[in-house]
Amino acid sequence: VTIPAMFADTVSRFGPREAAVFRQFDKRYTYYDLDRAVDAFAAGLLSLGLERGDRIGIWSPNRPEWLITQFATARIGLVMVNINPAYRLSELEYALNKVGCKALVTAAAFKSSDYLGMIRTLAPEIDTCAAGRLAAAKLPALKIVIRMGAEKTPGMFNFDAVSSLAGPAQMMRLDAISRALDPDDPINIQFTSGTTGAPKGATLTHYNIVNNAAFTVRAMGFGEADRLCIPVPLYHCFGMVLGTLGCVTAGAAMVFAGEAFEAGATLEAIVAERCTAVYGVPTMFVAMLDHPDFSRRDYSSLRTGMMAGAPCPIEVMRRVVKDMHMPEVTIGYGMTETSPISFQSGPDDALDDRVSTVGRIHPHVEVKIVDEAGRTVAVGAQGELCTRGYSVMRGYWNDEARTREAVDPGGWMHTGDLAALDGRGYCRIVGRVKDMVIRGGENLYPREIEEFLYSHPKVAEVQVFGVPDPTYGEELAAWIVLQPGEQASEDEIRDHCRGQIAHYKIPKYVRFKSELPMTVTGKPQKFLMRKAMVEELG
Ligand code: ATP
Ligand code: MG
Repeated sequence: VTIPAMFADTVSRFGPREAAVFRQFDKRYTYYDLDRAVDAFAAGLLSLGLERGDRIGIWSPNRPEWLITQFATARIGLVMVNINPAYRLSELEYALNKVGCKALVTAAAFKSSDYLGMIRTLAPEIDTCAAGRLAAAKLPALKIVIRMGAEKTPGMFNFDAVSSLAGPAQMMRLDAISRALDPDDPINIQFTSGTTGAPKGATLTHYNIVNNAAFTVRAMGFGEADRLCIPVPLYHCFGMVLGTLGCVTAGAAMVFAGEAFEAGATLEAIVAERCTAVYGVPTMFVAMLDHPDFSRRDYSSLRTGMMAGAPCPIEVMRRVVKDMHMPEVTIGYGMTETSPISFQSGPDDALDDRVSTVGRIHPHVEVKIVDEAGRTVAVGAQGELCTRGYSVMRGYWNDEARTREAVDPGGWMHTGDLAALDGRGYCRIVGRVKDMVIRGGENLYPREIEEFLYSHPKVAEVQVFGVPDPTYGEELAAWIVLQPGEQASEDEIRDHCRGQIAHYKIPKYVRFKSELPMTVTGKPQKFLMRKAMVEELG
């Protein structure tokens, strides 16, 4: 099935029901409203001359235009390219050129970033060209820039005007164009989070993401009565596949509390909109649970949700279940390259399994765990997790070499994650292959040491990683953010470890930081910490 076919089916079944709420803009859409907005924008894109297979970037925080663009581009087979809202000049230039975006839909600004200003800096030609005729030296493929909002800007179209551009002829063509699309067409290029290095652009098809969205929300029992609060960025697969696309497959409503995650606004939205589910990476749940207003509200409308993207500390999971009233909360494990989810715990799984594993394999996905030589390991043993099936991406856009490193000729996606499967099929994620530290021939798993360091009462956040060492090959370093108002010494942290964990697992270097480098998806970037430590140590 294609995205537009699935969308049309939902509109026909649930048209009058609420599809989306953007509380920050006081905007509400039924599925009928959304359908009209999507068709108007899709027809506008057609009249700008965009065609099936053209790449169109979207650079924006969570806004109604994001949602409309997602389904409008799919309606006519454009390949939407998700551009990280935190990007600055050189990253934007890299992403647009890497995939040859012909058009860009952009917010005017976000937080302290002046998006339109950055576009003008990269493409000063825009000030004097006619809208739609950009020819910029630095962005050779880019012709069309569409800015959100109603204001006029030289050289650009505005979103609302594009939505009223099309005549009846273009509107009439939409259905025929949608019907001709192939579910195996690429429809989306999503950049990975950039946790281990530069983000990679994964090319995904309708078939990849519609199915994954449907299986994931089915595991949480989503139906048209569900209302999902989406505080995660739409730019990432968590928001746009499992969130927006997932809701559409079920006819559920999406609730947005703001352009980007903010704990207080999210909690308020959950209560005011009577949400039945909420998504987040573990750090978002921590921020919500620790918010000063947390205990003032009643979350009894909540039933389920998903935590994914990074390991969830056990204590956090217990509080989410109990204090946030989410007895059926699931854990998801996946990666951008696999559309994304491959493992998910179910609401029926025992809480112990949900806190210590990522559940069992999704329907129609195969799994194996291999050693360095590529041999499948015994049940319970650790190795690299590999998955295969409908959900594996087409490849990294225009990057044969990296695609071949990730997906082998047998179709197996090598996830780069260390994991173990137990006899019942539950999967435990141990860490990233790249993060494993080999100190004097001993394999060390930073996550295990992090879990231990979290038991120190002054520690709010901690990341453990390896740095090169002439004697041992690698040594361990820990970066710690202390609880507000706390002070600690390096020795105090090391003393806390003595006698509790093996001496070689005690970090040689301990540093206190006010914050840790994070991706927009809320994941700590150890490669940046490692780089900084290497510089510090000379
Ligand atoms: P990059 O590939 O650019 O380094 P990334 O791998 O973080 O970044 P994503 O595709 O957003 O980019 O994230 C996928 C990764 O997130 C997985 O490979 C895994 O390491 C981690 N992950 C996802 N879900 C979980 C989970 N439930 N528990 C532990 N780790 C998880
Ligand atoms: Mg990755």
